Amino acid sequence: MAIELNKRRRRPSWHKLPVSRVRSLTDDALEVSLAVPEHLRATFDFKPGQHITFQRVEPDGHEVRRSYSLASTPRELAEEGTLRLGIKFIPEGTFSAYAKSSLTVGDVLEVLPPLGSFCTDIEPARHYGSIVAGSGITPILSIAAAALDQGATVTLLYSNRTEETTMFGSELRELEARHGDRLRLHHIRTRSDGASPLLTGRLTPDKLRAVFAELVDPARIDEWFLCGPYDMVLGVKEVLEETGASLIHTELYYVD
Ligand SMILES: Cc1cc2nc3c(=O)[nH]c(=O)nc-3n(C[C@H](O)[C@H](O)[C@H](O)COP(=O)(O)OP(=O)(O)OC[C@H]3O[C@@H](n4cnc5c(N)ncnc54)[C@H](O)[C@@H]3O)c2cc1C
Repeated sequence: MAIELNKRRRRPSWHKLPVSRVRSLTDDALEVSLAVPEHLRATFDFKPGQHITFQRVEPDGHEVRRSYSLASTPRELAEEGTLRLGIKFIPEGTFSAYAKSSLTVGDVLEVLPPLGSFCTDIEPARHYGSIVAGSGITPILSIAAAALDQGATVTLLYSNRTEETTMFGSELRELEARHGDRLRLHHIRTRSDGASPLLTGRLTPDKLRAVFAELVDPARIDEWFLCGPYDMVLGVKEVLEETGASLIHTELYYVD
């Protein structure tokens, strides 16, 4: 009988990655790109939907760790050596306020390689559905881009206050232009007029039931991804379960 010795898993370790680009997405959100050197590309390989973690020592010596989902795709990492993420500024937020006020090209961040189970093995014949609010779009951008590239279909309900506060709006328009009706994108506006009354105002359980009755047939969707604050994700999950949906992935960004 073969006995495997030393089969201990190596714990992930921190790596230093330089910031290669900082771009404003909205008045209160940034896109940050990190350059991954050739020798770390395998370490930072990921599945769409996963996140990385930053570690930073504050001026008072306090150590802060925060996670951010990857908006880019594994292909972009392999071809260009880049990881991209979207950070929404939280008033008085420790890391997001630092990122907004200080982060510049050439800064070096301490980063833990990608982790997380908010992902799937993408299959071209499947139809993926997603319901997200605000910065919850970040991992979905990666999942949607990878799924559409592989021939799958994606339906996305994306809630924001207004068009101006919508993160990655232009990237979503590009995906729509490239993939035609395999991307079914419905913007919900909570503080301005949406495309219809159904897509205007907060996505309450009743409104979501109406969306399912009139706009999106949940029976046509094989797998769901919900991302955002605790209340929103759990509320949407309950309504989805009423429709019989069973494959529902959730990622919680924030619990009040
Ligand atoms: C797996 C994972 C992936 C994530 N991915 C992203 C991402 O792609 N983009 C992104 O912007 N964020 C993401 N987050 C949230 C992120 O990790 C931080 O929690 C967020 O940036 C706030 O950190 P901070 O240090 O600025 O604020 P903190 O100093 O932690 O918080 C300051 C105050 O804001 C409140 N607060 C914290 N987070 C939020 C929030 N999201 N909304 C409203 N109030 C809040 C806190 O209760 C506190 O009162 C993710 C979180 C997880 C767990």
